[in-house]
Amino acid sequence: MIELREVSKTVMSGTEPLTILHPLSLQIPHGQFVAVVGPSGSGKSTLLGLIAGLDAPSSGSVLIDTVDITRLDEDSLARLRGEKVGFVFQFFHLIPSLTAYENVAVPMEIAGLDDARPRAERLLEEVGLTGRAHHYPSQLSGGEQQRVALARALANDPPIVLADEPTGNLDSANGRHILELLRKIHSGRGTTIVLVTHDAELAAIADARLMMRDGRVVENTLTLRSLDKLGVAASDVEGRRAEGDHSGDPRGRSTSSLDYSRDDPALVDGSTREPRP
Ligand code: ADP
Ligand code: MG
Repeated sequence: MIELREVSKTVMSGTEPLTILHPLSLQIPHGQFVAVVGPSGSGKSTLLGLIAGLDAPSSGSVLIDTVDITRLDEDSLARLRGEKVGFVFQFFHLIPSLTAYENVAVPMEIAGLDDARPRAERLLEEVGLTGRAHHYPSQLSGGEQQRVALARALANDPPIVLADEPTGNLDSANGRHILELLRKIHSGRGTTIVLVTHDAELAAIADARLMMRDGRVVENTLTLRSLDKLGVAASDVEGRRAEGDHSGDPRGRSTSSLDYSRDDPALVDGSTREPRP
């Protein structure tokens, strides 16, 4: 289970603190397929980066299977991420000097897996790329590159896959292919998937939806679903949700003097999953 407790993010914008994620609490039970939707700049990538431990919150805690990742040192965090989280980015982040096969196999070899090679082959087969294994990223289409990135994200069979607009750079046919794969991974392996997309239509295939606006979650169907499973009528919940709507919550003023450069590729490459070439 992924749990966020009063997680917020404030960055410095010039000399002014800017809250890009207001205090947010939520739980994502294991095996859920959650879509995070909302306009550009609403905080979707920020939220995903915090769940992945690629970025640190300004306040609050992030728990992955009851472990508070905000309290882990770099090594432990990298290890936990390596074991539990696969990440897929909008811009693929493949290593250009490695073939598709190597992009998948090398991180596993570095992690010391004995069966890295056959596993990489199986994963590439799973994403339908057997025939392209020895091509370099520059020789692959965007859709194919994203499938390599997906295979790499699955290398350690992580219980959680986080995908930040994985179809954002693809034409609709390739986008659909990636979504189909995500859906197959979810149903076949029981993987928890958190998919960021600005496309509400794509979000329709998910079990639950988080809608963000201006750094707040303005709709969360996760709660509705779990209550639904407990037999609580949706109409009852809708009423309560409206009463308990804290979207005007004024907290989240805590500031951090650090400007977390979440998009800094060095930070991304610094994770165990993406060794430098
Ligand atoms: P989304 O993924 O929904 O488009 P982001 O999470 O990337 O939104 O960003 C939310 C807001 O926070 C945006 O306005 C963005 O410009 C701002 N932001 C994100 N990271 C930083 C940062 N390191 N410094 C300053 N502003 C940031
Ligand atoms: Mg984003």
